Amino acid sequence: MAALVDDVRTIREENPFESMMSRFDHAAQLLQLDLDLYKVLRVPNREITTYIPVFMDDGHIEVFTGYRVQHNFARGPAKGGIRYAPDVTLDEVRALAAWMTWKCAVVNIPFGGAKGGIICDPSQMSQSELERMTRRYTAELIDFIGPERDVPAPDMNTNEQTMAWIMDTYSMHARHTVTAVVTGKPIDLAGSRGRREATGRGLLIVIDEAVKKLAMKPEETRVVVQGSGNVGGIAATLMHEKGYKIVAISDIHGGIHNPKGLDISRVMAHLAKHRTLEKYPEADPVSNHELLELDCEVLLPAATENQITSNNASRIKCKILAEGANGPTTAAADDVLERNGVFVIPDILANAGGVTCSYFEWVQDRMGYFWKEDVVNERLQDIMVASFHDVSKYAETHGVNNRIAAYMLAIDRVAYITRVRGIYA
Ligand code: GLU
Repeated sequence: MAALVDDVRTIREENPFESMMSRFDHAAQLLQLDLDLYKVLRVPNREITTYIPVFMDDGHIEVFTGYRVQHNFARGPAKGGIRYAPDVTLDEVRALAAWMTWKCAVVNIPFGGAKGGIICDPSQMSQSELERMTRRYTAELIDFIGPERDVPAPDMNTNEQTMAWIMDTYSMHARHTVTAVVTGKPIDLAGSRGRREATGRGLLIVIDEAVKKLAMKPEETRVVVQGSGNVGGIAATLMHEKGYKIVAISDIHGGIHNPKGLDISRVMAHLAKHRTLEKYPEADPVSNHELLELDCEVLLPAATENQITSNNASRIKCKILAEGANGPTTAAADDVLERNGVFVIPDILANAGGVTCSYFEWVQDRMGYFWKEDVVNERLQDIMVASFHDVSKYAETHGVNNRIAAYMLAIDRVAYITRVRGIYA
């Protein structure tokens, strides 16, 4: 019996939707959110499940399951990425959709939140299979997405090419080119300069602010990065250029560690050439779990959910935890980190640079006028710095940790606009 109870607890801790909801409930309680608003905000607006038939290259048909959860539209069109992975679940997509609502509210951009996912293994699919699957998924969502409705973007295992296919499919159905239906497009296809780097750059900006606040110095700051994709790889590169000492980094198979610091440009060149970090000279191999517990000042999980849990939270040694991934820390780990004095830059603030630049892309598409990269980066800097200070001020004024402060700030903004609009009940 005891074992069963333990299992249930583990399953729950690992359920990102439950992690999101427990923080939401905590923040809503502190805000004394009225019951009607609470009931409306704790559920998504719409959940779409669609079964996607795809002709595989050998001629047979495979049917994939796809989701799009549209969590909230109060502040504007829903916004959020689409991920392709074998372990996508509806609860995960629900959590990610809600996080998008809170994220867009934390950085105060005029969007609600959504997320999509398809259960598939992109590493086992050809480009043409991925293209057919993406187009059919888009066709199924035609009535629900659009520049004024819901604007998808890249997430895990989707990229600029995926966004180009979505934009093209949507445009074929609309009978004219609609660039603002997705963000994260190639620059030559109405994408924004700086979008590819924006999540990593946003992380650098908020880490810089935290380092200043805690009277630390970049050159004396050792950084451990989990993940070396669009978020981790770019954040590590930009931080290395800024003088931070990156002592460890990983990919999906494992990591490398050198306490004296890694030359990140060489690490990234090795990764590009060999498609793995394995056998990188001048470093020791570490597993993805050992990596999280290494000595460092900044830990930057930029891979996936549930990496820091009640099992390992007490062994996390960083001063600053900057969440590049969505939901890398479970709710059960929050208290341990707080007790140990870790300064957490929560995901809905730390990785908001991507969606902030998506907002710039959407604006540029609608204007048909594109900005220089300096302009994009300067505007990103302004928003990320202001949001960091909004959250830390809120935390200090209300005597709560940064994560709860970010949730409170976000829920308060969404609740305010919902009250002003009125609930169509
Ligand atoms: N997938 C990214 C995120 O989780 C970007 C979303 C977007 O740009 O809409 O924030």
